[in-house]
Amino acid sequence: MIDTTTLNKANKEYTNPAMHTAEHILNQTMVRTFGCGRSRNAHIERKKSKCDYFLPEEPTAEQLAEVERKVNEVINLHLPVTIDFLTRDEAAGIVDLSKLPDHASETTRIVRVGDYDACACIGDHVSNTSEIGTFQLLNCDYEAGRLRVRFKVAD
Ligand SMILES: [Zn+2]
Repeated sequence: MIDTTTLNKANKEYTNPAMHTAEHILNQTMVRTFGCGRSRNAHIERKKSKCDYFLPEEPTAEQLAEVERKVNEVINLHLPVTIDFLTRDEAAGIVDLSKLPDHASETTRIVRVGDYDACACIGDHVSNTSEIGTFQLLNCDYEAGRLRVRFKVAD
């Protein structure tokens, strides 16, 4: 099994459960809206965060406003955030495990945001989306197929 205790301790200073859980919701919303992959290089900081997505065309301001609206809609559903430990085979039917290293242990930690999102993650999360606050897109820039989204959550 992955030693999440050590990993979480090492990252403690940089984790922000509210922002990180919002990132899960943002990822799922981007996947549903644009059919892209989840962000693979999220950079969560205390005050703001950024995620990159690869899209063939630059999203319109209206599409991005809709993403922001949708993330807040999900947050406002006050969904439970739950953690399950599944075998790799069980997990493979639910989430994309391609991001995990080959030597990842047989047991995979699956984090669910209600029935909106599920992904394999070892990070710290809130236990209910009601704890996140309001999601705000700060700015987005698009260059050579990469959309960089900066966001924050506020009380
Ligand atoms: Zn996570």
